[in-house]
Amino acid sequence: MRIDFHCHLFPAMDTSKMVKVGSVIFEGYGFYERMVKKIQNIKSSEANNIMEKTIFHLNNANIDKVVLLPVNMKENQEVQKWVEFAPEVFIPFYNPPEKSDTNVNVTDVIKKAIVEEGYKGFKIMLTFRKKKLDDQLIYPVLEAAHKYKIPIVMHCGYPPPGTRRSVLTYSNPIYIDNFASSYPKANIIITHMGYPFTDIAIALAAQYPNVYLDLSNLAYMMPSRLKELLIQANEIIGVQKILFGSDGNTPEMIEIAVDYFDNIDFLSNEEIEKILGLNGAKLLGL
Ligand SMILES: [Zn+2]
Repeated sequence: MRIDFHCHLFPAMDTSKMVKVGSVIFEGYGFYERMVKKIQNIKSSEANNIMEKTIFHLNNANIDKVVLLPVNMKENQEVQKWVEFAPEVFIPFYNPPEKSDTNVNVTDVIKKAIVEEGYKGFKIMLTFRKKKLDDQLIYPVLEAAHKYKIPIVMHCGYPPPGTRRSVLTYSNPIYIDNFASSYPKANIIITHMGYPFTDIAIALAAQYPNVYLDLSNLAYMMPSRLKELLIQANEIIGVQKILFGSDGNTPEMIEIAVDYFDNIDFLSNEEIEKILGLNGAKLLGL
């Protein structure tokens, strides 16, 4: 089974428009030029809507299931629409309240999301709200994740290219050190292997049984660095705590990300399949 453990809702915008918008900021950037070339080589779909188009590219990439990560509370409902469209494919995660608001009982809201609304995990965006990962708002989430044994994907490391505000100041995964051992059944996933805090991320995964690493977006942004990081992480912790994630902004990018892993020659096929889905399946209890 292959699982994309880090995917966002794609906007309904068509891919050529997306590429054009990117050119305004990123023309000449290595990642962008590489991406444009690769997207041109991918067969497009004639789908009627963005969900159908996504399924087309998932099939081409041999991905069976996708963890859908909302980036704000508004997207929580939108995620459910995708799940209704293809319940066997999309797995809904939940973005909990991340603003201090005394009128909201965060514990109740979270419990309802998991028990009644069927969300299978959390996506934490505190680092985009100028809050570090050990902010007091994380504790009700950790308690719920520990109680229901569900994973928490925490945005760590760099934000998307072109994000013109401070995120890095808040997104060092080191703050996970303050709570990981207190919630041993809450499985915590560090996104982007924490880049540029990759050494800290690998060290945390080595130290805590409940800390994992996702590789989302690194295949596009820094393929040669990703090779080094995979080799180093494998030397220390093996591959069983490493999760594949695409994290692109068009569905074609899922195919591009999977293609990177299908062409790896420095890991065994068995190791690659663990990264591409078997590790994620275990975390999700599938
Ligand atoms: Zn992401």
